[in-house]
Amino acid sequence: MIQFNDVYKRYPNQYEALSGLSFELDKGEMAFLTGHSGAGKSTLLKLIALIERSSHGQVIVNNQNLGRLPKWKIPYYRRKIGLVFQDHNLLHDRTVFDNVALPLIIAGENHREIGRRVRAALDKVGLLSKERTHPIALSGGEQQRVGIARAVVNRPPVLLADEPTGNLDPTLSQEIMALFTQFNQVGVTVFIASHDQELINRLPYRRITLNHGRLAVQ
Ligand code: ADP
Ligand code: ADP
Repeated sequence: MIQFNDVYKRYPNQYEALSGLSFELDKGEMAFLTGHSGAGKSTLLKLIALIERSSHGQVIVNNQNLGRLPKWKIPYYRRKIGLVFQDHNLLHDRTVFDNVALPLIIAGENHREIGRRVRAALDKVGLLSKERTHPIALSGGEQQRVGIARAVVNRPPVLLADEPTGNLDPTLSQEIMALFTQFNQVGVTVFIASHDQELINRLPYRRITLNHGRLAVQ
């Protein structure tokens, strides 16, 4: 599902954030991306989400070589990638419903389908009763669950998360991980960047570890 072949990423300031990276994630696999701060984890996820492009090497996602994807196709490609961030990037002047609906509105879905899908996504994260609430009135864990509902509302085959439990206590972090596991169980490929060793050690999933932009020997 996700394949890196000898990938390098050099930023415009010439800093090489990723060097000679090769690995594969299978369809339906769940894995952690670990490594020290500055190791290149966010950069790697950005290459998959096409927020950044590789400087050299191939990134292939869902049988698409991202280096060959024309610019106009990027918005369509992104709909197939769910993204969850540490600070969840919710809009505070909109309700929970409207936040989760955003990707569907951008995709031009009809009103009825939006209502149905938003409620299905909120139901999956256990927040159906909060659809009229504003994010500011929710706890940190609930806000993160809204972020996850928004990421999966398009039913993407790939779900990427960048330090999704960074601001949460251990109990809430485990709840968030349980949600990712649920999505993985219905076939979604899940890739989670995290430096929370304690949390990762409790879970049976594969780890891909970066060390200064290179794959660490495990
Ligand atoms: P991690 O997520 O593992 O903390 P990042 O991918 O955020 O690592 O960063 C990897 C390295 O690339 C860091 O040294 C960081 O300073 C550098 N970096 C990240 N983004 C940029 C950018 N836009 N321009 C230049 N350097 C960057
Ligand atoms: P529909 O009612 O159109 O079938 P739902 O959103 O209710 O749509 O999802 C149907 C099933 O698909 C659920 O069991 C759900 O867990 C699963 N599913 C498959 N892929 C995803 C995904 N990427 N995100 C969320 N759910 C998914």
